[in-house]
Amino acid sequence: MPKPLKILFLASEADPFVKVGGLGDVAGSLPYALRGLPSENLDVRLVLPFHSTIRAEGLTLTRETVFTLRRDNADVPAQVFRADIKGLPAYLISGAPVTGSLKVYDPNPNADGEKYTFFSMAALEMVRRLDWRPDIVHANDWHTAAAIYQIRRQQDDPFWAGVKTVFSVHNLGYMGAEAQNALRAYGLPPIAEPFYPEWACHQPLPQALWAADEIVAVSPSYAQEIQTPEYGYGLETFLQTRRATVTGIVNGIDYTLWDPFTDNDLESKFSADDLTGRAANKAAIQAQFGLNLYPQAPLLAMVTRMDYQKGVDIALGALRRITDLPWTAILLGTGNAELEAQARALEADFPNRIASVIRFDAKLSRRIYGSADMLLMPSRYEPCGLAQMIGMRYGAIPIARATGGLRDTIADGRTGFLFADSSPNVMAATLRRAIETYGHAAKWQTMQQTAMFEDFSWEKSAFQYADLYHQLVK
Ligand code: ADP
Repeated sequence: MPKPLKILFLASEADPFVKVGGLGDVAGSLPYALRGLPSENLDVRLVLPFHSTIRAEGLTLTRETVFTLRRDNADVPAQVFRADIKGLPAYLISGAPVTGSLKVYDPNPNADGEKYTFFSMAALEMVRRLDWRPDIVHANDWHTAAAIYQIRRQQDDPFWAGVKTVFSVHNLGYMGAEAQNALRAYGLPPIAEPFYPEWACHQPLPQALWAADEIVAVSPSYAQEIQTPEYGYGLETFLQTRRATVTGIVNGIDYTLWDPFTDNDLESKFSADDLTGRAANKAAIQAQFGLNLYPQAPLLAMVTRMDYQKGVDIALGALRRITDLPWTAILLGTGNAELEAQARALEADFPNRIASVIRFDAKLSRRIYGSADMLLMPSRYEPCGLAQMIGMRYGAIPIARATGGLRDTIADGRTGFLFADSSPNVMAATLRRAIETYGHAAKWQTMQQTAMFEDFSWEKSAFQYADLYHQLVK
């Protein structure tokens, strides 16, 4: 047996340690999926900040190493713990910049800049002290981008020479501008790149795009889109020069965690072969939130961060335009205060039709996926999107904008409904089309079953990542 390929996987969040959004789902399942491909022989290890929200009870922690990092003229102590979960070695890095921050993504941008720069640098220092030199370092989004840049800078160092890097872009919109001071303090200079605007040379995400051996966008459409002015945030010209090393691999979902047949949070479990349980789930949720109980009318839903990226305003506007039709809706989300207020206002105007539930609630999200007829995702951009895949797995038909991963995972008229323009009118027209189809029960059920039989498990995507790793070290 050849020696396994060693992959160090860096992320800001990973389920089940800590999950705030889709990245937590990905980093919590891709490393397992990769280790679960015996033919690929991959020794993947995860590194996370030891966030104050990670509860130590239930984890078997061992202290791995301690050291200090130089920041300007001071030394910042770091401690590394190891906590293996289900066979995956995971390292948790602690230190004042991490423990001093109460949230995974701190409302104080400066705190996040310090925390993630410290984390990225500490992850590299940690690995020097393990008896385990990675062949590949795979980082995700701006939070861990500095590690990729630093490895490139250290190619003269025998430890890092020849170590390959992969950088996954889950969201190009967040570049880490808040980390600039910290980068300087930890000794990372700006890059010189003529195809970048000046500001980009100082920020971690553009630095990692510049430094990485391979760039992975989280869907093939998003890989193309980030090379255009509409989605490229000014980095598109540079990304075009790197086109040969930009690929798109869609994320998967963990089919053991997301399965309506075994989901204990559902009132009634169900499967593609027998969807009857969905009706009881829908009645329960409508009753709980004081919504009209029309079994013949569709239940529309959103499960989302409340953010303009997600087109929450577009969805609210579209709902206001179709109040002549019978439907009820439940909106679950939290985030932007203005959008939260708009969602509450819509509920206040139509209290028997719309429930706006402003919080993060994993259990309720499952009950929504297992009861809603339609899942609204009018994203302005959507690198991959997991909610539509979960929705389809649970028979909730996505009504989505044809962008990024939504476009790559939803077949219009077969497993969902797609529209092109970011406009409430266009979305309203698409909702009318969907509600019309919903009226044809047999046709609707065929769509649900087709959606449920789609394969969004990690295996396919994990093989694509494994291929990429093997090619890199060839
Ligand atoms: P993003 O990562 O951009 O937020 P994704 O669709 O990729 O969007 O992933 C979102 C994930 O977070 C899904 O698993 C979704 O169910 C979950 N989620 C989002 N908002 C909430 C919420 N308010 N309560 C529970 N789960 C949520």
